[in-house]
Parts: sequence; structure tokens; C-alpha cells
Amino acid sequence: MVSLDSKLSAAVGGPTAKALGTHLDLHTVGDLLRHYPRRYVERGALTPFLDLVVGEHATVFAEVQSTDNRLVRKGLWKTDVVIRDAEGARMTLAIFNKPWVDKTLKAGRRAYFSGKAERFKNRMQLSNPDFQLVDDDDGVVTEEFAGALVPVYPAAAKVSSVTVQRSVRLALDLVDLGPDPLPDELRSRHRLVGVDQALQMVHRPASMEEVGRARQRLKWDEAFVLQVVLAQRRAVTRSLSGTPRAVRPGGLLEAFDAALPFALTRGQQDVGRELAGELGGSSPMYRLLQGEVGSGKTVVALRAMLQVVDSGGQAALLAPTEVLAQQHARSLRAMLGPLAQAGELGAGEVSTRLALLTGSLGAAPRRTAVAEAADGTAGIVVGTHALLSEGVAFADLGLVVVDEQHRFGVEQRDALRAKGTTPPHVLVMTATPIPRTIAMTVYGDLEVSTLVELPKGRAAIASAVVPLAEQPAWIGRAWQRVREHVAAGRQAFVVCPRIGGEDAEPAADGRRPAVAVLDVHLELVHGPLQGLRIEVLHGRMPAEDKDAVMQAFSRGEIDVLVATTVIEVGVDVPNATVMVVLDADRFGVSQLHQLRGRVGRGEHAALCLLVTEAEQGSPSRVRLDAVAATSDGFALSRIDLEQRREGDVLGKDQSGTRSSLKVLQLLRDEDLIVEARVEAVELVEQDPMLAGRPALRQAVLDVLDLERADFLEKA
Ligand code: ADP
Ligand code: MG
Repeated sequence: MVSLDSKLSAAVGGPTAKALGTHLDLHTVGDLLRHYPRRYVERGALTPFLDLVVGEHATVFAEVQSTDNRLVRKGLWKTDVVIRDAEGARMTLAIFNKPWVDKTLKAGRRAYFSGKAERFKNRMQLSNPDFQLVDDDDGVVTEEFAGALVPVYPAAAKVSSVTVQRSVRLALDLVDLGPDPLPDELRSRHRLVGVDQALQMVHRPASMEEVGRARQRLKWDEAFVLQVVLAQRRAVTRSLSGTPRAVRPGGLLEAFDAALPFALTRGQQDVGRELAGELGGSSPMYRLLQGEVGSGKTVVALRAMLQVVDSGGQAALLAPTEVLAQQHARSLRAMLGPLAQAGELGAGEVSTRLALLTGSLGAAPRRTAVAEAADGTAGIVVGTHALLSEGVAFADLGLVVVDEQHRFGVEQRDALRAKGTTPPHVLVMTATPIPRTIAMTVYGDLEVSTLVELPKGRAAIASAVVPLAEQPAWIGRAWQRVREHVAAGRQAFVVCPRIGGEDAEPAADGRRPAVAVLDVHLELVHGPLQGLRIEVLHGRMPAEDKDAVMQAFSRGEIDVLVATTVIEVGVDVPNATVMVVLDADRFGVSQLHQLRGRVGRGEHAALCLLVTEAEQGSPSRVRLDAVAATSDGFALSRIDLEQRREGDVLGKDQSGTRSSLKVLQLLRDEDLIVEARVEAVELVEQDPMLAGRPALRQAVLDVLDLERADFLEKA
């Protein structure tokens, strides 16, 4: 009996199974049946050759017009087959060393041809294509093509769509799908076809209407199973019992609020109340705080930390990089002032200590920091991954704050959580705003709070594209603007995609290497920005050098910082007002938005210049224009996501074949995801371990396996 878990060789021949595994990463019958057609062509509709793209794998349906067979030289036969499409356009197929092929591909026969589109002597051709005749010698259409629609599969150079189609047919005929993973009641409520019918209809549809019904059902599979996974995770978190960390009057938090030089925004107050309540409860908080760059998340997090310290616990702040950890430590210390100077002269009446723990710390300071964390002297411990290492323990870890969560895996968060005597509260902060359904899916096990408004008195950031393709001289104006800002006492960032100093290989797509920090630094020092105080900052510098440069920049001792994206997150220098991003088209939309957030953090008007050689109207330019046109991070993240594949959104395998989301689109299927979430929550409440639903339980395990495999791969 063949099941979804059976090896492919149980359904298709050994060599085909091997090819599907090697080239398309399909190993089981289930993998194959979930390899859905990319599109469908109507039987008999010839594919216009005009649509072919050089270098892409294509399947065309065409009629043979003529063949020409010849021996090029000893041992090399070449057959030129001229085919034509519906418009009568012609194309040549070059077939090598198959001298018998002209007996099969006779004039008038129609077939699907799959191969890589190439340009030869300035004409498009398919070289050594795979082909599948649709009719026999008498013009009778063969069974594969008897349906009205022919599926076209994502294929590889060595495995054509036709091969996939044949294999799918074999597998569909043999497989026993077992019970449906979607509960019957759910299916009838949402009018979804059964899984067997859905697979038949997606692979062998009689009409596009059937394809639609099949896809709807398959989307539900993906959305529902994922939401069940997340609902289970939330249920587990809720069932844990932590230590309540209620607000204590007369503590650090009160003293901090009293000394705060500004009023909290409405959003900060609302979220603050929400957090305070949850921290006071015995089931651990598990919350995502998202908000625009500069929306004041750090203050919110710090207030939560102080509440926990007041109640006798400790708080840890986990940052993705050394630069950020150092910067956090510095800015938290500055905000806390005497409140963080316990044991020192001038300490506040109530006070604690803040320890910084990073990988680059020397032995002695590291010992001190580790000791302060272990005996509870440090109420707040800031650090990088170093916090996760085994030698680090806490007296009573009550709250874990994770900054920029997208750089951490669930496993890393859990490692830190495990350091609490009881499960600590968790607050994850991200400045990459994401639409609700994505948050629901990617961070689905977290509750979400959002800071929308920016603190008042922020000057707007003006953004503009500097289009070197049309206006090469404008680069000079960009440097002029930098000079003006510096002359007014402000500071500047110049951002480059690359560090340099290594042998730059041209990009895979043949573009020149992106400009590099080290080269640009030299050019600016000796050229347009001569006389200014210019330094570099990048990831290859030793940690203490990076820190020294950042501190000098914070103190205003550097006018212009030429840097990579190390400055992307968290760097907070209110006096920096101008940013020039070189080769801006090499960055993603969200990344540019993050970068831009490094300026305009103070009262002075700020400017962000996106320098590019991308041509007007090109996709890159359109993206840059969008970034220049709006500073709404949510709008930009939508644009970004629309351009990326859903698999990447989840941080899954780039090829997408292994992602658990194949038909579901996080942006377009918002309503469906919301409905699936409601259903999942209800079901998990009734039957948390899915004891009565073995088929669903198995589907959940499959998704978890994918996740785990993915994590191991990254690690
Ligand atoms: P985020 O982490 O969300 O990017 P930060 O918390 O770093 O933002 O805040 C950015 C800057 O705004 C900091 O200098 C901070 O002190 C300041 N800030 C935060 N909240 C307010 C507020 N309510 N009013 C004025 N300034 C604020
Ligand atoms: Mg911040």
C-alpha cells in the first residue's frame, strides 16, 4: 500500500524517483502530491514564443513544421526542429545525437516541449528539450492530455513538467490518503472539498473552477495546521506558571517616571498598562511589541524591566549585535542615571546595577558581569548571544526582553527562558512592522502590541532618490548637502552595501560589485568631503574599535560615518541628520526604512538620499521611489513582502519547496487566516493534544519536522 509517507520509488520508477529527489527535492509521495502546478494551459492553446525569457526553463505547446537532420562532424548529430506557435511565430529546437528524432517529430505533430530558453544567433531556441507528443500518429490525443487543462509544474532543467505530471498521475492512482486531516465539521462549515478530491482537482482539473475549489481547500490545510501549531504553543505558554511581578510603589519605576524628561505618548502609556498588568499575573507574559523606528519602544521595555526589578526579579535584554548591546547598555545607563549606580557614590535612594555581557568582554569584566548576574546585584543584564552561554546564570530572572526578534530563532528565545527559576515573562521588540496576519503567522505564539504614533516634536525625514542613471552630476550635490549639515553642527551617515578590501566578485547577475565602505571612505577623505572628520564602521572591525567609533560618533567627535548596515538597528544619535545610501537599490525596502530611521531622531530636520544607478521605471527604481515617498513602515513592509516569496517571510528554505506554505499567501489570504485561527483556537481548547484527531496530529508533526530541519540547517 502506498501512503503519503512512502518513498517515491514506491510509486514511480527508480530513476524518475531519483531525479525528482535530486533536482526538485521531492522524496516522498506526499512531497510529490504537494508539488502543485504553477499554472494550467488549455489543451491545444499554443504558448506564444514571445513570452519566453532567456535563461528560464519553459514549456511550450507547439506544432512541428519541419525537421532537418545532419551529421555536424564525426560523432555529432544535430537535428534542427522548427516549431510554430498559434500566431505562426517560429522557433528552432536544437537536438543533439538523437538522429531518430525526426521519425517521431514529424511535421504536423503537436507536442509539449520543455527546456531552457537560450539565445542562439540572436534567436530564441530550446536546446535538447524534453518533449511529449499529445497525439499519436493517427491524431488521437493521448490520455495525459485528455483533460481540458494541462498542468504546468515547477520543473528543473533535468526534470520536465511532463515528467512531473506523469509521476503525479501514477502517485494519485496508487496512494491511499487515509483520513482527512481537516475535521468534517470544519469542512462542512467552510464548504471545503475532501483532501482526495482536492488533490485530484489541483493536479487533474476539468476546469479552472475546480482548480479554485481545490486551492481553497489546500490553503485551509496550510493555514489551519499552522494555526493549530501556534495555538498549541500559546496553550503551553499559558499553562506554565511563573512568578507574578506586580508594581511596587516607591520603587525604581516610580523614581524613573518622576525623572523622565518627556511625557509618554498615549501609545506608550496604553502598552505600558497592558504590560504592567500581565507582568503582575502568574502566567508568563509572551508578547511582541512592534513599532516604528523611534516610536519609543526602549522606554516601554525599560519601564517593564524596572517593574520586575522592583518586585525582586532581574531583567535580561538580548540584542542581536555587539554594537547594539553596547549601545543599549549605554543608553539605558544614561536614562537611569543614579538609579543604575547601586553601590557607587551618588547612587539613587532606590537603585540597581546594570551589567553588560558580550562575547568580546575581557576576562576580568566578564567575571564581574557574570557574578553580578548570578548573585542578583545586577537587576538588568544587557548582552548578546553571550547571555545564552552555559556559564551565565541569574539569581531570579523575571523578564527577558529580546530586541529585533527576527534575528533570533524560537530555540534561542527558549534557551534564555530556561535560565529562569520559574518561566520568565518575555517581551520581544521589533521595529520591522508587519501586517497583522503575518504577525499572526510568524509570531503567532505571541500576543501583539503596537506603538503607532511617534513622540511629538520629531522633525520629519525628507527622502529623495538621487538618480545617477539620468543625473550623474547629482552625486556632487549629495555631498554638498552633507557638507551643509556638518557646517550646521550636524552629523552624517554614508551607507554602503559592502565592506571592501577583499576581492570583490561581480554579482551573479553580472552587475558590478556594489560600492564598498573602505573605497568610499578613501574617496571622500581625499575628494568631496576633504577636511571633515570621517571614520568607518563595519562588521569586520574588532568589537572594541567598533564601540570606540560609535562612542566618538555619539559624542559628536566624528562628522561623517561611512558604514555598512551595522548601523541598521538601534543606533541612536539624535544629532545625526543626513544619510546618504550608496547603491541603494542593493538593499531591501524594509532595510532601507530601518536605515533611514537612524536619522531624524532629534529636533532637527533630517534628510535621506537614496543614490542609485537603476534606470527610471526599473523594478529597483520603483522600490526606491516607494521608500522615498512614504515613511509609513507598515505600507513599506507590505511592498517588501509582496515582492518576496512567502517562504522567505517565514525564514524558510529559499527554494520554497520545503516550506509548509505552498498555496497560502499571507497578504492575500488574510481573511482565511483569521478564520483558520478562530477554528484552531477552538479545537485546541477542546482537545489540546489532538488525541481524537490522529490525521491532524500527524499533519502538525510534519510541519514541526520541517521547522526543526530548517533550524538545524541554519545552525
Ligand atoms: P525605538 O526603540 O522604538 O526605535 P527609542 O525607544 O530608541 O525608539 O526612542 C527613540 C528616541 O525617542 C530616544 O531618544 C528616546 O529617548 C526618545 N523618546 C522615547 N519616547 C519619547 C516620548 N514620549 N517623547 C519624547 N521622546 C521620546
Ligand atoms: Mg530601539
